[in-house]
Amino acid sequence: MRKILLALLAAACVLITACGEAKPDKAERSFYAMNTFMSVTAYGSDSEKAVAEVQSRISELEGLWSVTDDGSEIYAINHGGLSEISEVSEVTRDIVAFALDIADRSSGALDPTIYPVLSAWGFTGDENRVPSESEIAELLKLVDHRAVKVTESGITLNDGMMLDLGAVAKGAASDEAARIMREHGIKYALINLGGNIMTVGGKPDGSGWRIGVKNPDGDGNIGVLTLTDCAAVTSGSYERYFISENGTVYGHIIDPASGYPVDNDLLSTTIISTDGGLCDALSTALFVMGSERAEEFWREHSAELSGFDMLLITKSGEVIITEGAAERFSLSDKSLTLKVIEK
Ligand code: ADP
Ligand code: MG
Repeated sequence: MRKILLALLAAACVLITACGEAKPDKAERSFYAMNTFMSVTAYGSDSEKAVAEVQSRISELEGLWSVTDDGSEIYAINHGGLSEISEVSEVTRDIVAFALDIADRSSGALDPTIYPVLSAWGFTGDENRVPSESEIAELLKLVDHRAVKVTESGITLNDGMMLDLGAVAKGAASDEAARIMREHGIKYALINLGGNIMTVGGKPDGSGWRIGVKNPDGDGNIGVLTLTDCAAVTSGSYERYFISENGTVYGHIIDPASGYPVDNDLLSTTIISTDGGLCDALSTALFVMGSERAEEFWREHSAELSGFDMLLITKSGEVIITEGAAERFSLSDKSLTLKVIEK
């Protein structure tokens, strides 16, 4: 009897060790923040602590950056508060400075001062509506990223101007999440902040994380990106939009040049790079640009911007993909044609 027990015990030990080696402790957490569902998965001995800290850091950032919460720094800046010296936190000054830099490089395709126009279209929580041309023209006078000043300790805007970090906040939060994971010694993690993907390492089995690229024109995915230690962020007008009385579809990404929702040859843009904040900013900016300008932008700026890659889905059924992204992408929707672009 004793022998049998010992044998069983030994077998159990072997099993436990085997399991332990194959799969480090897994922790998973889903929550709602920054107006979207987020889920975080991490593997490692400190994974529970890591995912908890990621969630609390994201809610902290949301508390600083929310455009509607009257306790946030962005709200205070927008309502004439924190423009004085030594009041705006460094993390907020950094993200605003970053958004302004991309606004500059993208010739204003990304503009963090778009908020007054976005509000008029009702994309900030109120009822959606189509503003009149004169109303748009009037509000566009308040949109100008060049008028925002980030000083050593504060942020100043002209009267009536408003900042909105909606196009960059989740990406920046994903960088923070990856930093926290690494601080906790996590080697494998998948961070999904409402479609803003960040990966730490690959999967515990050594393969990359498989990330579906959504079909912007129907259900399911058009293909899969396999990622290790990098981010992928998609922008499009297919998730947040409204349809006016005459049947026109208006999406939530506004072309700052016209004040109207983007209407060009693109259905979606996906940006891939090691920098989540950059992916988020560029996915919005390149969506505004349309495929031709986006391609030009990639050729001109990719080297200086983390060597980013992109995948554009056009209304005519083309997937325009840079060579670096093509290596990591497999197309499953065979009704689309793949066009690989090289430097
Ligand atoms: P999502 O938030 O759906 O992931 P994006 O990252 O593309 O998508 O951000 C879209 C958000 O950015 C909008 O909801 C709005 O808050 C803001 N926005 C819309 N148009 C612009 C623009 N041209 N420049 C900067 N921000 C914009
Ligand atoms: Mg974005």
